[in-house]
Amino acid sequence: MTNGTTDTTSTTRTVAAYAAQHPDAPLAKTTVTRRAVGEHDIVIDIKFSGICHSDIHQVGEDWGTGIFPMVPGHEIAGVVSEVGPGVTRWKAGDRVGVGCFVDSCRECDNCRAGLQQYCTGEDGLVFTYNGTGRDGLPTYGGYSSELVIDEAYALSIPDSLPLDAAAPLLCAGITLYSPLAHWGAGPGKKVAIVGLGGLGHMGVKFAHAMGAEVTVLSQSLRKREDGLKLGADHYRATSDPATFSELAGSFDLIVNTVSADLDLSAYLGLLRTDGTLVQVGMPEKPVTVHPYPMALGRRSLSGSMIGGLPETQEMLDFCGEHGITSEIELIRADEINEAYRRVLAGDVRFRFVIDASTI
Ligand SMILES: [Zn+2]
Ligand SMILES: [Zn+2]
Repeated sequence: MTNGTTDTTSTTRTVAAYAAQHPDAPLAKTTVTRRAVGEHDIVIDIKFSGICHSDIHQVGEDWGTGIFPMVPGHEIAGVVSEVGPGVTRWKAGDRVGVGCFVDSCRECDNCRAGLQQYCTGEDGLVFTYNGTGRDGLPTYGGYSSELVIDEAYALSIPDSLPLDAAAPLLCAGITLYSPLAHWGAGPGKKVAIVGLGGLGHMGVKFAHAMGAEVTVLSQSLRKREDGLKLGADHYRATSDPATFSELAGSFDLIVNTVSADLDLSAYLGLLRTDGTLVQVGMPEKPVTVHPYPMALGRRSLSGSMIGGLPETQEMLDFCGEHGITSEIELIRADEINEAYRRVLAGDVRFRFVIDASTI
């Protein structure tokens, strides 16, 4: 039965969680097992967990076969409650965040360069949920009361940021910060953010704080007041053909957060010479792009996925300095299914965050 040890840190723990038992099933209260605390593991008392649109895609198996039961959640903010004997970076009481991955190979060129999100190792990136850990067991995400994770994959949340509104920074935040930082959004640069949802609203805040001139390109002017309040200098409707003729050749960088099928050739035409259109929203099907607008002006079409550990920490520190958090609607765990329906209907300002004390 036992190895004769009574050390509680060597035993697994059963924790409360909200899970889907099979694809498209409503999420319901359950329990899952967290691994025993290893030498370099920390236990996080989860305080808040954001709802990302990709949670809904994965529960619905839109992106491939899922691992069930599935406990979604990769925008996690909490407090360290316990540390393994070899942990050096954290102590009980530290405020920490966990994003989209909880481990990686640590040896490939990308991992060594701090670009863990692009890990090319054999086992590759270990996703926070709907993944398989290096111990061979399924991973369970943040819609839960506690998480056991290697200390190297947790990030420090600055004291100045409230944990609830900081949670979405771990996915929505870094997803926008990384391309804006990589392609040099800053003073003298004109940046467009396509879509003003959970991702887009973070893009507006970051690009504005970095000093760029920010334009929101949205289907309609419905959220114009919100966009300007968040820091946009301009707000234009993409349903108006004049937007594409008047803004032709004007942006250094466009970040597209929309996963709907857009006419990317038309958006490429909005770039200046050497400008870049970056995809962070992922359409379900391949898109068709004409190379002509790229050739005419040496424009680029690229993509970007979340960020590595060093850049995610840099983003959190930037948020601490600039007072940036997500705009959130805080919900109880028993409201998750309703929140999913509202996300699908585009009815959220701008991110749902679950109060984990209600799980
Ligand atoms: Zn996400
Ligand atoms: Zn790697």
